[in-house]
Amino acid sequence: MSTLLANFTEPSPSSLLLLGQGRDLASERGVECAGELPAPSDPDLVERARAARAALGDRAFVLGHHYQRDEVIDFADVTGDSFKLAREAAARPEAEFILFCGVHFMAESADILTSDAQQVVLPDLAAGCSMADMAAIHQVDEAWAVLEDLGIAGDTIPVTYMNSSAAIKAFTGRHGGTVCTSSNAEVALRWAFDQVGGVDGTGKVLFMPDQHLGRNTAVLKLGLPLEACVVFDPRKPNGGLTDAELRDARVILWRGHCSVHGRFSVQNVHDIRAAVPDVNVLVHPECKHEVVTAADYVGSTEYIIKMLDAAEPGSSWAIGTELNLVRRVAREHPDQNVHYLDSTVCFCSTMNRIDLPHLVWAMESLVAGRVVNRIVVDPDDAHWARVALDQMLALPGI
Ligand code: SF4
Repeated sequence: MSTLLANFTEPSPSSLLLLGQGRDLASERGVECAGELPAPSDPDLVERARAARAALGDRAFVLGHHYQRDEVIDFADVTGDSFKLAREAAARPEAEFILFCGVHFMAESADILTSDAQQVVLPDLAAGCSMADMAAIHQVDEAWAVLEDLGIAGDTIPVTYMNSSAAIKAFTGRHGGTVCTSSNAEVALRWAFDQVGGVDGTGKVLFMPDQHLGRNTAVLKLGLPLEACVVFDPRKPNGGLTDAELRDARVILWRGHCSVHGRFSVQNVHDIRAAVPDVNVLVHPECKHEVVTAADYVGSTEYIIKMLDAAEPGSSWAIGTELNLVRRVAREHPDQNVHYLDSTVCFCSTMNRIDLPHLVWAMESLVAGRVVNRIVVDPDDAHWARVALDQMLALPGI
């Protein structure tokens, strides 16, 4: 027997979930997507999508995240990052159906920000976010209990990235914190510190779930030392930290990361600089701290798009973010020399689960009077998540 066969065991429930074949509605990933999907090879697929979109008319509004496939973006009424799309959804009260071509936490935010009369549909329920899944509400409750036992919870403000479940946003609202995006993380962190004595005081921020965005913002924007940031690992007792480490920390970073942006390395930056003279390295703040410090520019998806829009013709760029967006930006700027920072393919696999067959299936079902894959947030969570989202909207400059 080969070593491979000898080591083979029955798939665990979690391995099935990773393949999108299990069912776990509490998870951001891997829930099954039941439905009679059209075959991807159907030659009439684009025509069917056009016909269904036309039949739905103003009753539907289709949102497309920047990381979606081109075949999906072609049918989006508006494109943007998660925050822009949630606001766009809220600004369309006349639309009965919001078709969210993105991932699960985004559709949840759209459901929270839209009226009860509107129904949010995620064309594939298996389109989750691995980062959002790294912070489960029971883990966050346990972590908060650790801070309470140490007597430091009262001096700590939670800040959660938009890329988190509605339950985590609700936790943040219940404990007086705020949501943030990659565009406003600095303002959000400053606000949070102001609630507990200021950046130069002794209060703390619990930042979830992306440790890299939290660290990059705290160190590079707020000027806190790296040692002021500790990483809380929810799988370890006390987060893997001593009581003294937790007491001395200014920023308690959740141990989460983006499986796409976390792939970029400092070696990628060195390699592209060696290969392309005068290249501008532009990365997303979800990248590791050492990658961000080795780059020339760092900013959100919207920032990356604006930088390329404003760039000099003939300039060279290496971009560290999701590949669908980089390819689109490169196509829209043929006068610039646009490279992908990693030499290996780096799509967001869960974002890519939404494809034209799923979109056609969802739209045709709505045309036939069947609402499929509706995303509904628990009312109590929706209330408190809205409190945290409204706090973000009230931040200066938002
Ligand atoms: S790119 Fe990263 S943060 Fe965005 S949906 Fe994919 S895994 Fe989540």
